[in-house]
Amino acid sequence: MSIIVQKFGGTSVADSEKILAAARKAVRAHQQGHQVVMVVSAMGKNTDTLIELAQEINEHPPAREMDMLLSTGEQVSVALMAMAVNSLGYSAVSLTGAQIGIRTDSSHTKARIRSISTERMRKLLDEGNIVIAAGFQGIDEDYNITTLGRGGSDTTAVALAAVLGATACEIYTDVDGVYTTDPRILPEACLVPTVSYDEMLELASLGAGVMHSRSIEFGKKFHVPICVRSSFSDNPGSYIIENSPTELLPVSGMAMTKDEALVTVMDVPDQPGTILKIFEPISDKKITVDMIVQNVAANGKANISFTVPRHELADVISVIQSPIEMLGGRIGRTSEEVSKVSAVGVGMANQKGVARRMFQALAESNINLQIITTSEIKISVLVDRPAALDALRKVHAEFELELIAEKFSSNHYQPVDKPKISPIEVVQLLEGKGMEGLTIDDITLDDNQSRITFGKIPNRPGIAAALFDGLSSAGVFIDMIVQSYFSEESADISFSIPRDQFEAALQVSQELGHSLGCQAIESKQKIAKLSVSGIGLRSHTAVGIEMFRALAAAEINVDMINTSEVRVNVVVEASQGKSALECLREAFKNY
Ligand code: ADP
Ligand code: ASP
Ligand code: MG
Repeated sequence: MSIIVQKFGGTSVADSEKILAAARKAVRAHQQGHQVVMVVSAMGKNTDTLIELAQEINEHPPAREMDMLLSTGEQVSVALMAMAVNSLGYSAVSLTGAQIGIRTDSSHTKARIRSISTERMRKLLDEGNIVIAAGFQGIDEDYNITTLGRGGSDTTAVALAAVLGATACEIYTDVDGVYTTDPRILPEACLVPTVSYDEMLELASLGAGVMHSRSIEFGKKFHVPICVRSSFSDNPGSYIIENSPTELLPVSGMAMTKDEALVTVMDVPDQPGTILKIFEPISDKKITVDMIVQNVAANGKANISFTVPRHELADVISVIQSPIEMLGGRIGRTSEEVSKVSAVGVGMANQKGVARRMFQALAESNINLQIITTSEIKISVLVDRPAALDALRKVHAEFELELIAEKFSSNHYQPVDKPKISPIEVVQLLEGKGMEGLTIDDITLDDNQSRITFGKIPNRPGIAAALFDGLSSAGVFIDMIVQSYFSEESADISFSIPRDQFEAALQVSQELGHSLGCQAIESKQKIAKLSVSGIGLRSHTAVGIEMFRALAAAEINVDMINTSEVRVNVVVEASQGKSALECLREAFKNY
């Protein structure tokens, strides 16, 4: 008999009417002959209310007690949901994370799932029950209650679907599916019938709150098709699957964060090990760092900027203060008044001029870009928070995302009736790594690249657009782009290109640099790019650290970095490319 997992988020179980409506959906699937597991979130804004309550009592409540408290929200919902199913004449049993046997590590408030036992759920299902599982929670080795992080019920749902070999995981929520961007922020956002795991992973980790990004890691790793759809209608929703036609587009979705903070570290030595010393203490706190950029060193000193979640800024400052002083540097500018706006598209890897189009759209609106980072499948810019919405709108329009549904309307995914991999294969895939363990697929070296840097270029709207417009018109194919913050007035912009384009690109750059008021053009004809690809690279903050540690131990200096959910790239001196490859292979040999 096929198993379906149905997850209902907070707004979908906000009151008794809605709980009953959700119960009816589950009963309907049961009547259609499926075994049904429901995963339920806390009612409405209950989790927020509990957090506020805790803070009224203690500004810094112990994380263990926070988990004890927050897990009660889901416990209320599952009990009520079981009563609702029962009132419709069907049998249901509610279970907490601990009762199911969802084992996690002990990182309270952001625990990771290690294993899930299916025995009890299977028995209950075979006896004809609808199983109602509390989302977002588990227990550690010592039976302490843990939670998976805000929005974590999605992750519970997809994880249960994976271990049970469910044919589908349906995420019922308060929108009709996955949109090109948050439809509550941008009304012209368009529903996307199918989106790929890689696109959704990237969007979710860059701020698209519709799915918890770790749930997509499970989907990808265990081949679970995920359907996001409305609790309040029968619309088909969106499917998150392996390959989607949207992957052909240069940009298929956008995200914006409102809770980002910028940290700039000044005057640290430009040498192997510096990055490690700064980021290791942050990683130890399991804080995710994004948009790491480093400017070109002058006098052996570099500035490094990065963004962190705004609510973790104070923590970050406190842990990096002393390592930075020991390095002889200082914390420069920090800002909480910034937003990150990102465009995502698997197709951009093969198309020219995508960044240029984005920068031009932003320049037309006179929006200044404080930091730029790119990866193969995303371009992120950091802007002043008040400009973020306009930035989102302009780029969304530039790539005609409001028309996406028209382009793909005939491509709706047909659900399968068999899981792509069986629960036994799931177990084999894990091989004792833990469900949320890091998976590294490949480590590669491309030592045929060059880098050009525009040093101290004026920091004003339109500069990046003019620069990449010029390069693009000259036929230069740009790979990585990094714009780092130098001062209020100036920025450094670096980019990498295929080495056979170096001479041509340098010549154009010199002309452009002159007309744009750039103070110095610096270049390296021979650089090497190393790429580590896998699943969960950014959410596993330790991956970057492993890389930095391995490279520092081999005395290899990192020139450029970029990160995405599926890949981390670092650029080093070309002569060190091969040894860097070896040391990275060694560092990750057990993953
Ligand atoms: P739930 O409580 O059901 O888990 P969430 O609030 O976590 O619901 O997620 C649904 C919300 O995600 C939507 O109301 C919408 O505002 C927001 N959202 C952000 N990005 C997107 C997107 N790309 N597509 C759809 N919804 C999005
Ligand atoms: N109730 C939790 C939260 O609000 C988990 C979830 O809803 O996914 O974050
Ligand atoms: Mg959610």
